[in-house]
Amino acid sequence: MKTSSTIANLFNNSFPVLDDGFVRLVDVMGDDSSIVQAARVSYGEGTKKVSEDKALIRYLLRHRHTTPFEMCEIKLHVRVPMDCWRQWIRHRTANVNEYSTRYSIAIDAAQTTEPDKWRIQAQGNRQGSEGYLPTEVGRQLSQREAELHDSCRKVYTDRIDAGIAREQARKDLPLSTYTEAYWKIDLHNLLHFLALRMDSHAQNEIRQYANIIGNEIVSKWVPLTWAAFLDYRLNSISLSESEIGFIALLNSGKHGVLLESMQERGWIKKVDNSWKVTREADEFASKLMTLGLTPPWQ
Ligand SMILES: Cc1cc2nc3c(=O)[nH]c(=O)nc-3n(C[C@H](O)[C@H](O)[C@H](O)COP(=O)(O)OP(=O)(O)OC[C@H]3O[C@@H](n4cnc5c(N)ncnc54)[C@H](O)[C@@H]3O)c2cc1C
Repeated sequence: MKTSSTIANLFNNSFPVLDDGFVRLVDVMGDDSSIVQAARVSYGEGTKKVSEDKALIRYLLRHRHTTPFEMCEIKLHVRVPMDCWRQWIRHRTANVNEYSTRYSIAIDAAQTTEPDKWRIQAQGNRQGSEGYLPTEVGRQLSQREAELHDSCRKVYTDRIDAGIAREQARKDLPLSTYTEAYWKIDLHNLLHFLALRMDSHAQNEIRQYANIIGNEIVSKWVPLTWAAFLDYRLNSISLSESEIGFIALLNSGKHGVLLESMQERGWIKKVDNSWKVTREADEFASKLMTLGLTPPWQ
């Protein structure tokens, strides 16, 4: 196991997340050089002279040569509210050992919401949120949240005091209750996790954890891989065959043909003199704007 001084410093840190959560680095195996070393076994000595480590890592990530990235592993100790953990645990490629509330008393901490942090249901994205409720409304919600947490905890401790088994006493604890786990994953699958959970579509809470893991830990542990990941994955856009065709039409000024073609494929529809767009067309519009192009249906 290699530990550079940057990584050694990370071991001393516990990164706070949410109101009472954390991410703590427990162990790492390998670093950028392990990826290069593994790749060179398959590519042979011949490429050693021409390929700089950085260029090789960028090549591997760009072309999705994934196995060299599996040579690196990371183990984290995390403290997470159970609702967030429920999303996290869906990533099946990690090895997990979680705090047992059958064996031990449930952690006496539940994630709380500040009065100005109650998010409003998004209209467009059914899974998302947009904006916040006014603080005065939020204050009442936070007050009720505190009462609920207290009440749930009291019911739980009363059951424990009455001799009820911990495995049954826990069943009405709120999903905001914190749990802790050791979470070990290889770098390839960690990047997959981060690509999904740092994305703006991921829920705010898990995104906060992913951002800490990515920006504070992975970026320092494997800086060359991290830079390539930001470039080719996280901050990149991908274009479908249809989108490439549409952009070609847009670029050659054939706006009419473009709109016709998009209508034929059902991406946009004229309703009452304005365009009704599908989710795919909306996502395409975002990509166009990233490229500095204006969607002609807007
Ligand atoms: C924004 C967002 C919204 C979501 N909404 C929902 C939802 O509404 N409902 C819901 O149930 N889930 C939802 N999920 C969870 C999602 O469907 C995945 O289960 C989760 O993101 C884990 O992804 P994964 O399977 O790729 O990751 P991992 O489990 O880490 O797997 C990584 C990769 O390994 C491969 N793999 C792993 N296990 C297998 C296997 N058994 N067979 C074949 N290949 C395998 C796959 O290629 C997979 O992509 C959501 C996720 C996100 C990010």
